[in-house]
Amino acid sequence: MITHLQDTVTLSNGVKIPGFGLGVYKVEDGDTVIHAVSSALKNGYRHIDTATIYDNEKGVGQAVKESGVPREEIFITSKVWNDDQGYESTLKAFEETLEKLDTEYLDLYLIHWPVSGKYKDTYRALEKLYEEGKVRAIGVSNFHVHHLEDLMNDCTITPMIDQVEFHPHLTQSDLRKFCQENNIQFEAWSPLKKGRLFEDPTLMEIAETHGKTVAQVMLRWDIQHDVVTIPKSIREKRIVENADVFDFTLSEEEMKRIDEMNRDERTGSNPDTF
Ligand code: NAD
Repeated sequence: MITHLQDTVTLSNGVKIPGFGLGVYKVEDGDTVIHAVSSALKNGYRHIDTATIYDNEKGVGQAVKESGVPREEIFITSKVWNDDQGYESTLKAFEETLEKLDTEYLDLYLIHWPVSGKYKDTYRALEKLYEEGKVRAIGVSNFHVHHLEDLMNDCTITPMIDQVEFHPHLTQSDLRKFCQENNIQFEAWSPLKKGRLFEDPTLMEIAETHGKTVAQVMLRWDIQHDVVTIPKSIREKRIVENADVFDFTLSEEEMKRIDEMNRDERTGSNPDTF
């Protein structure tokens, strides 16, 4: 379990990913994303999660450059979008991503969604990029167990990460177990359920016990489950608040109470029907 903001988790290939990062989904490119990423880096974050479809890789790259933090100390993830899937088109999309981020390499490149009939070719492109040293780790996002099994039947390099929706209303226990058994790091998107659980009585009660906010309790629950987490905020105050989760511990009983909130309820699409 990570014990401070810059602590890392070691992936199956030995690469270390900071267990806590900033997500920038739907953050406008330009000043807004630059401000968010700069605030995060200034306050100790070392992991930024973007994607081609977020259309803000340029601003992320600029904020990284201007931060004064050496590039090799920052972990940058991006994802190949559905329209770009396929072998050649993924290689091309990757080059565009590097160009926008204004960087020589990516730390992690993910297949954003399991586009049927295409994700195996897309993944072959990721394996090539990995072998060429252009990306330090590769993986997938929004893959169910059956997608992972199907991919793993054919690929050479087992995905190092599966990034999926995860919060107290969607606890993904079967997928987490599968990932653990196969040395695939589980990573949470929408760890705050996009802000929709802040009035939940169980979470409010636990938060009050610890003198913390509901957001902090939700993120602490990720950490204690060894789940890499990437909450989004564009406000410095919340960026700081979200990372202030290393000075308290949820008891076993509190962890269990949160686990039991599961409803298999998604805010995003189901990967089988997106
Ligand atoms: P989230 O669960 O992180 O919630 C973010 C929202 O919660 C913010 O917009 C803000 O309104 C609110 N918030 C954040 N901190 C708060 C605080 N301390 N107090 C009060 N409100 C607060 O939602 P998300 O952005 O959907 O997910 C996080 C990241 O995961 C994304 O930014 C993106 O990087 C990634 N993501 C990936 C996928 C994928 O398909 N791989 C899909 C969605 C998101």
